[in-house]
Amino acid sequence: MKRYFVHTFGCQMNVNDSLRMGEALATIGYRPTPAPEQADLIILNTCAIREKAEDKMLSALGRYRAIKTQRGALLAVAGCVAQQEKAKLLARVPYLDLVFGPDAIGKLPELVSRVAQDRVRVAETAWIDSEEYVFPRADPGSSAGKVSEFVTVMKGCDNVCSFCVVPHTRGREVSRPFVEVLEEVAALATVGVREVTLIGQNVNSYRGGISFADLLLRVAQVSGIERVRFTTSHPHDLSDALIDAFRRERRIAPHFHLPVQSGSDAVLRRMRRDYTVAAYLERLATLREARPGIAVTTDIIVGFPGETEDDFRATLELTESVRYDNQFSFVFSPRPHTVAGIKEEEWGSVPHEVKVERLERLQTIQRRISAGIAEGLLGRDVEVLVEGPSRTDPSRRFGRTPENRTVNFEGRAPAGARARVRITRASPSALLGVESDIVDLPPIEPLPRRIEAA
Ligand code: SF4
Repeated sequence: MKRYFVHTFGCQMNVNDSLRMGEALATIGYRPTPAPEQADLIILNTCAIREKAEDKMLSALGRYRAIKTQRGALLAVAGCVAQQEKAKLLARVPYLDLVFGPDAIGKLPELVSRVAQDRVRVAETAWIDSEEYVFPRADPGSSAGKVSEFVTVMKGCDNVCSFCVVPHTRGREVSRPFVEVLEEVAALATVGVREVTLIGQNVNSYRGGISFADLLLRVAQVSGIERVRFTTSHPHDLSDALIDAFRRERRIAPHFHLPVQSGSDAVLRRMRRDYTVAAYLERLATLREARPGIAVTTDIIVGFPGETEDDFRATLELTESVRYDNQFSFVFSPRPHTVAGIKEEEWGSVPHEVKVERLERLQTIQRRISAGIAEGLLGRDVEVLVEGPSRTDPSRRFGRTPENRTVNFEGRAPAGARARVRITRASPSALLGVESDIVDLPPIEPLPRRIEAA
């Protein structure tokens, strides 16, 4: 029996793609192994969003080279770096056997067989841009044992944010037909999944036969599904209908990740983000009015070309006024083929030490805000969807609140149950508590895990 190991970098789209790779490889007799030293095929599923992610991929490739030499394992690079570099990656890394893009996952069995049998090196990075694209269908068996699962609803992005490689690595938007999405969610519910997160690069511009708001409402009605989440969104697609869905359906979980990127209109213009800070704040206020208490998180890029101290202060002010539950903030790094990468000098490159110093100032403020929000939960009861034993302390249980806060707690509630938990300790990264009551038991007990994590 042949074994494969997938090393996944980057976002949830990549995690999901890695699962689909495993399912495709199962059709030609490959099984997963958690140990790369035992693998006959090692795949690095890469991310190109930041320079560091690419560096990490290159250093991992170097480590896996030894396994290739010892065992004759095949070495493949998938994901965004593969799509960006294409056959050039084969030239750059002479011990690499296979390079394939996100659209070639369905062809993986054929590609691996060609590489293994014909001993050729292959690069397969063609786009399937149009309605011909068939979304790999998840095997519910891969989700056995899970309470929360991801479902792909679209791929690609039609926006042209000047810093972003996604349009170059994932292509134009293609939405998955809504019937397929509903069927997949229903199949997941039959193996005990109670929470689904709909994923795509820009999910709220979904056009799979119904609007994204209607898709959320329909998914929330699937029998056995208790919570629906989604990621990621663009503020200019945050429609009134989507906000209204939050007002109408409590199963749409009260958490919205709404990337703002900067608090300065001048920077947003250069980023080609297509909204102003005032428009962003208006959408957020309407959302908060529709679903009081909703958790809001965001992404911020610090040190974008041309960002002045005043621009940066506007980001700090925005952070203070919105009081995000959390922020994912990074320093700008120019990516190949992007407008911001090409025009960095012209717009005014921000020195590295200034970027780092600004990032630290921003993160200090956000840490204080997140700590304040967490402390506000001390002594209060929260509802937790239980996912199983705690990863840090198996004597405790682990789950998430509707706002997507992680909670480790003392209690007995089984995976899939909803429990009420009294919070006894609170930090920005995790909450600790004690179960006070079980709200409900799962309608279907999650099946035991079948596939080892790859
Ligand atoms: S909307 Fe998101 S994925 Fe699309 S180009 Fe902008 S940053 Fe990239």
